[in-house]
Amino acid sequence: MQYKSTRGATEARSFSQVLLMGLAPDGGLMMPATYPQVDAELLAKWRQLSYAELAFEIMSLFIDDIDRDDLRAMLARTYTQEVFGSADITPVRALKDGILVQELSNGPTLAFKDMAMQFLGQVFEYVLARENQVLNILGATSGDTGSAAEYAMRGKQGINVFMLSPEGKMSAFQRAQMYSLADENIHNIAVRGLFDDCQDIVKGVQADAEFKEQYAIGTVNSINWARIVAQVVYYFKGYFAATQSNDEQVSFCVPSGNFGNVCAGHIARQMGLPIGRLIVATNENDVLDEFFKTGAYRPRTSEHTFITSSPSMDISKASNFERFIFDLVGRDSEQVKVLWAEVNAGKGFDLGFMLDKIQGEYGFASGKSTHQNRLDTMKAVYAAGDGFVDPHTADGIKVARELRLDGETIVCLETALATKFDATVHEALGSDVQIPRPAALAGLEDLPQYVIEIANDVAVVKDIIRTAVKI
Ligand SMILES: *Cc1c(COP(=O)(O)O)cnc(C)c1O
Repeated sequence: MQYKSTRGATEARSFSQVLLMGLAPDGGLMMPATYPQVDAELLAKWRQLSYAELAFEIMSLFIDDIDRDDLRAMLARTYTQEVFGSADITPVRALKDGILVQELSNGPTLAFKDMAMQFLGQVFEYVLARENQVLNILGATSGDTGSAAEYAMRGKQGINVFMLSPEGKMSAFQRAQMYSLADENIHNIAVRGLFDDCQDIVKGVQADAEFKEQYAIGTVNSINWARIVAQVVYYFKGYFAATQSNDEQVSFCVPSGNFGNVCAGHIARQMGLPIGRLIVATNENDVLDEFFKTGAYRPRTSEHTFITSSPSMDISKASNFERFIFDLVGRDSEQVKVLWAEVNAGKGFDLGFMLDKIQGEYGFASGKSTHQNRLDTMKAVYAAGDGFVDPHTADGIKVARELRLDGETIVCLETALATKFDATVHEALGSDVQIPRPAALAGLEDLPQYVIEIANDVAVVKDIIRTAVKI
């Protein structure tokens, strides 16, 4: 499988080359040249497979420059009961009203990003060793991404992680989760400043091309293609869990921010998985809801992004959205370039004339959920005896309930566990409810923490990297 850029000016690359890339050199995103197609016979065969075996069948269609047995072994090591809490890996449960919830948050950091990041840790280590390279991952996090990256990369050969977080701005649980890691290759750096300051430091380090090259600085952000392809797998798994036969259709409802999760659903649908609708759920930051309702894409700046109680969806410029638009305009790179010139000029674009195609041929629908909606949904789910859901998943359930058609099977993707966002869950359900937490994480907040506190200064971060990476 060859990969090409949505902007058309980057030469074709293989999976292993794309793996370590951020943006394509032409500013676009890398995409598979074609979508492998599945038919009824293949689906019938795949229905019987374990998660790791299914992952191998799907991902090996996109990955042809890694030895097949090695890929199979890597996936068998990644998707285990030990790491994800059950043999099913992504079990599906039914709410009383028949909406299904697919649990993607039973990995080490209790958020769906583990699903892909755990694979990324394995495949990075493998490819780096093969190419005799090292990688120093520098990132900024306000919570979920940073911890998922650290738990995926801890103890991996040839990889260091330098993760910047804003001092005092994460929940006690999130801090404990990251800072309690004692692995030598994990470096937690708390910056006296805000998340935006952390991001500016990352940009500042990367702007020094010589340093970036000398210290092999890379990232693991949401545009990484390997993360997307790993996420395609659980749409198939969810489909099989929700159906008896491959004649049935299933719709998915996806709490969305950077459009990475639902982009994987779009790819599964393009491969021929019988997905009815792909329902995009947003919070108050409703840029994507506006697009899927009207065809107008009006991204906003960070000053115009609301801080909400489903913080991992506080995004107003969805970094993977260009991948869908590329398909929508018939993979015409010239068209994508024109549209993103408008985006970069702060104007956005209007594809209202394509709305039939967006909603019909591509099956997209959308809805939005506010703070009050998510509190009400958490309360209703709990009162019905359906237990706990986190604020992001609550946004998805709210939208699914609103949009559900007669006879439609909807799988809501659970993107985090309630215990990760306990303050909002307590606000909804009362301060005296006991929010369940996996036994392995009991007492997490009492563990010793390893974190360096620094001023908001690029030079200090470079010094930390120089000291840790002796070259
Ligand atoms: C990252 C995240 C999302 C958004 O996923 P995207 O791939 O960015 O659309 C939703 N919920 C939770 C809990 C997350 O961590």
